[in-house]
Amino acid sequence: MTTNNNGEKYWKLAKIVNTMLLCSHIYLIIMFFMFQVRLMVFVNIVSILVYLINYFWIKRNLHVFFGNAYIEILLHMILAYLCVGWNSGFQIYTFALILTVYYCDYLGQKIKKPSLHPRTVSILAGVLYLAFYFISSRIKPFYDITKWHAGKIFFVINATFVLVYIIFFMENYRKIVTGTEKQLEEAARRDELTQMENRRSMQERFDRLPELAGTDAEVGIAILDIDDFKKVNDTYGHGAGDMILHEVAQRILAAETEEIHTCRWGGEEFLILAVGKMAYPSLVNALQKILGEVRTDRHDYHETDIMVTISAGAAKRKTGEKIEHTISRADDCLYQAKENGKDRMEVS
Ligand code: GH3
Ligand code: MG
Ligand code: MG
Repeated sequence: MTTNNNGEKYWKLAKIVNTMLLCSHIYLIIMFFMFQVRLMVFVNIVSILVYLINYFWIKRNLHVFFGNAYIEILLHMILAYLCVGWNSGFQIYTFALILTVYYCDYLGQKIKKPSLHPRTVSILAGVLYLAFYFISSRIKPFYDITKWHAGKIFFVINATFVLVYIIFFMENYRKIVTGTEKQLEEAARRDELTQMENRRSMQERFDRLPELAGTDAEVGIAILDIDDFKKVNDTYGHGAGDMILHEVAQRILAAETEEIHTCRWGGEEFLILAVGKMAYPSLVNALQKILGEVRTDRHDYHETDIMVTISAGAAKRKTGEKIEHTISRADDCLYQAKENGKDRMEVS
């Protein structure tokens, strides 16, 4: 995934958050109007304008966007508290705000925007929350909304909104984190140039061999090495070498089945692991096919046809043999194949 795609994802999310906040103020303006809390009707007109203008800032300057939202939430919370009191529950937005500032800071870092002091904003909001609590017994709200149980209605709706908001954030956060984890795990298992499994991933497969092979499955190892590859690099350049490595790798990858697993073992060497009831003959057949295909493939690099061959060594694991020893025997066979003139395979 590219940074651009990430950027799109976060901007989209910022837009959803903005819309949620905008909708909450549309509902609030109706409520305040109904309960005749005039100051808050005016405040909510300003809030709605802030979030309408915020659509403009989302793509232009995420800092202004976040900053506007934080200031609006804090000021709205203070004024609503002063107007309708603790029992209406506007202080609960503190928790939504703390979550939002940390989340926005996380998103901001993803798209290379420096932090917006989430800790400072959160401490400020927390101090306000406690201050509201301590002064609530001493000061009376500006508006008396006790008739129609308006305080209770506000409390229930505010608490519900904050709850839904927190659930929405946590679900999105989890989605982003698990998605990123998956991507990282996948990237750590793959070789970038060939898109094959890398050596580390194959080592993990070896660790799982007892469960993969069971008691009666055959295990075969083959090591393949491109012949005179240094000459290819020296003659046509590293770019040509990279392209050929990629194309040879695709031939090897095409041999993968449920029983056959391939990897880039290092440099211009590949390893094939075969595990299954008749895995070893399948491995030998696959090797013959790969060697034949690579032998006749023409690699077109800047209108020059380049041809390469590969040598391979294969070994079948003996009962009770450690996999490292099988690999070492396959390596000896590869050495034999090179000694015997290359472009061939030797098996043991
Ligand atoms: P042999 O037939 O004995 O295997 O000879 P060789 O030239 O293939 O073997 P040698 O070990 O002398 O050289 C391997 C070369 O592979 C050297 C190194 O630069 C090249 N090589 C390893 N990894 C890469 C890579 O990722 N890209 C490119 N272009 N070359 C690579
Ligand atoms: Mg080599
Ligand atoms: Mg080589």
